[in-house]
Amino acid sequence: MPKQPRTSTNKGRGSPKNTDVQAEVPWASGFKPPSATVARNAIGYGKQIPDEFDPDLVNKDGSRFFQTIPIPCCVDDWLSQYNEEGQTYKQFLSDCPWFSTRKRKYMSQEFLPSGLTIKEKYPEGKIYIVPVGDFDEDSLVLLDKMLKYTELFLGLPVVSLSKIKLEVNSGQVFWMEQPDNTQTSNRRSSNRSKKHQLSSRYNKETDHLQVCVDSNLMQLRKVLPRDAICMIGLTMLDLYGEDSDLFVAGMAAGNQRVAIFSLYRYDPCLTFSKENWFQIERDSEATEDERHRIMLQRGCKLLVHEICHLLGVDHCIFYDCCMNGSGHLQEDFRQPMHLCPVDLHKLHTLVGFSVVERYRALQVFYSEHGLTEEERWIKQRITAICESSGEQT
Ligand SMILES: [Zn+2]
Ligand SMILES: [Zn+2]
Repeated sequence: MPKQPRTSTNKGRGSPKNTDVQAEVPWASGFKPPSATVARNAIGYGKQIPDEFDPDLVNKDGSRFFQTIPIPCCVDDWLSQYNEEGQTYKQFLSDCPWFSTRKRKYMSQEFLPSGLTIKEKYPEGKIYIVPVGDFDEDSLVLLDKMLKYTELFLGLPVVSLSKIKLEVNSGQVFWMEQPDNTQTSNRRSSNRSKKHQLSSRYNKETDHLQVCVDSNLMQLRKVLPRDAICMIGLTMLDLYGEDSDLFVAGMAAGNQRVAIFSLYRYDPCLTFSKENWFQIERDSEATEDERHRIMLQRGCKLLVHEICHLLGVDHCIFYDCCMNGSGHLQEDFRQPMHLCPVDLHKLHTLVGFSVVERYRALQVFYSEHGLTEEERWIKQRITAICESSGEQT
């Protein structure tokens, strides 16, 4: 049986506890970090790995492009809390519901069972991004760039939908249903505008509001377009899942192909309390440009990580990779933007693209947006692949 993608995200879920760095932090009991051979085998090529996926193809100065997965350094780090099995390339092929010769449940779009890639099987398929609630002009620019990045990273069409209006009124939040929303598949259109209250919590003293992910997901399901592969709601509001949470970065309902994520805690000008969800300090040390660049980098990483989950890619335990789980924001922030060879091979088979062409497009994006570290990494990787296979860079 194909496994459903994860039903919740692990890109940051805070609970009030001690996060002090300790001298020695063990892996979660039962978890064994993979050896270089195990990691290499997980790529799914046997001994002869093509250059694009070869982890042993090194940089000119001998440095490696893909590092081993870092040892947990804090009790809240993902792998000191959870014993992850890891998903090899071969497991992905058998688990991923998008490879099935049967159409996925609740999908009413065209389906060609003989197609090899997701694009061939679901030729109309698109990834939808919908802003939920208010975005100021700066955040809208950010959103546009994140969409572009997601399209280049995944090689699938990414389309934005018009904003879903939220009405916020003395700590209460209402989802405003649009009467002219004709793109929906599973809802009869009505001429009346309706509003639905979302579960939320509000602290008067700090004037801080959090909205519950579940009630957002429930509403998002109603506006899922017919030709969607999946739909991601993005919000600038802070989110929580359970009462005991400090916050959640978001939540995905994999079997329903919808997810909601918040960009709120990605703002480098904010500092968050480790005890109270409602305590947040604004200490703007970063310049506007810096703030924008950091939020872009964090937002892009979040989007592709979560969409990869919805596409059937599990957390990575083989290399330092943007598909590693993260137990808290700091762990999330230090993870790289690139996919390791195991996960790149998965996405390559699912979507079908030229690895070098994809890298070149991403290099242009990184260069245009001042993401210099990523730009350097990808440029060197392209050079190494092309030189090894005797091509011009
Ligand atoms: Zn995750
Ligand atoms: Zn990986």
